[in-house]
Amino acid sequence: MTRKANRANDFVQMALDRGAVSAKMVKPSSVITAAWVRWKCQFGCDGFGTSLVCPPHSPTPEETRRVLDGYRRVLLFESPRGRSRKIAVTLEREIFLDGYYKAIGLGAGPCELCETCAFDEGCRHAELARPSMEACGIDVYATARGNGFTIDVVRTRKDPQHYFGLVLVD
Ligand code: SF4
Repeated sequence: MTRKANRANDFVQMALDRGAVSAKMVKPSSVITAAWVRWKCQFGCDGFGTSLVCPPHSPTPEETRRVLDGYRRVLLFESPRGRSRKIAVTLEREIFLDGYYKAIGLGAGPCELCETCAFDEGCRHAELARPSMEACGIDVYATARGNGFTIDVVRTRKDPQHYFGLVLVD
């Protein structure tokens, strides 16, 4: 972009240009954190403990709440399957380079960048790896629905699936 993005429309267009299905600027208070989300990772998700960006290594819901409360604006977006982390990282970098030095992105799902995580050496792809919203204790269903997006429990393989990511802007 030739000028610094500022208006909500600028960020939304940026997200759409990078592959988001839809996007909105939302308030951090509308991003819902909950203690139970951690349990859903720990009991029932085979991604638990498999990478540095999943629980128990990722931020707790309480820490995430404190971080969210330090921002004014969040870019929340829906993405095609398997693209939310990449879109979040791309937006994070562009928004950061645009002058918003606090920008940080979150995606969806476990880290798929390595076959096995490099726990002892530290992350091999720190510039690309980001936790998912749910790995940070965010209730993705309540957050998406509360901001006017559609997301339902997937009961069969034929059901529509919805994936989300966000960028904390400033
Ligand atoms: S990029 Fe690789 S090393 Fe980094 S968190 Fe993901 S799996 Fe682990």
